[in-house]
Amino acid sequence: MSNDLVQVAKAADFAARRHVAQRRKGESAEPYVNHLTEVAALLAEATAGGDPILVMGGLLHDTLEDTDTTYEDLQTAFGEDVAALVAEVTDDKSLPKEERKRLQIEKTPYKSRRAKLLKIADKTSNLRALVDSPPRGWTAERLRDYVEWAEAVVRSCRGLNAHLEAEFDAAYRQAKQRFAT
Ligand code: ZN
Repeated sequence: MSNDLVQVAKAADFAARRHVAQRRKGESAEPYVNHLTEVAALLAEATAGGDPILVMGGLLHDTLEDTDTTYEDLQTAFGEDVAALVAEVTDDKSLPKEERKRLQIEKTPYKSRRAKLLKIADKTSNLRALVDSPPRGWTAERLRDYVEWAEAVVRSCRGLNAHLEAEFDAAYRQAKQRFAT
């Protein structure tokens, strides 16, 4: 039997295994999976549990970018919608970092509703992590640049979900305050 809840649980298990050796950039080096479960929880809450594909996408959103998982792996295990959503939020790693960051601002407005919500949840989680545990060695300027970039990405795709955007805004305010000059 395979229903939505089974698929969501399987996606959490899959993500935890694929990212098993990875840690977040912050000083406290949280397991990477904490980021994925946070993003999934934000999305589940923001959509009142009504969109399992989106929650699975949240759990799996970094598998193509940061693990050796392929599009076909995702398609086989979780179906075309989930695989396509993850592909939509995956940066082209052959491009230089600054170019990838610029493209996120430029291209996010043209992405699907689910991809936009995922981006907002992702940036919310990243700003919270920055406040709780900034990466060692990042200067105040680098931290501020990241915060402003995250806000620019979210600004490019607002207006879809007030609950999620309020979560982002709270994280942004905190980050701005914390890294103010
Ligand atoms: Zn992420």
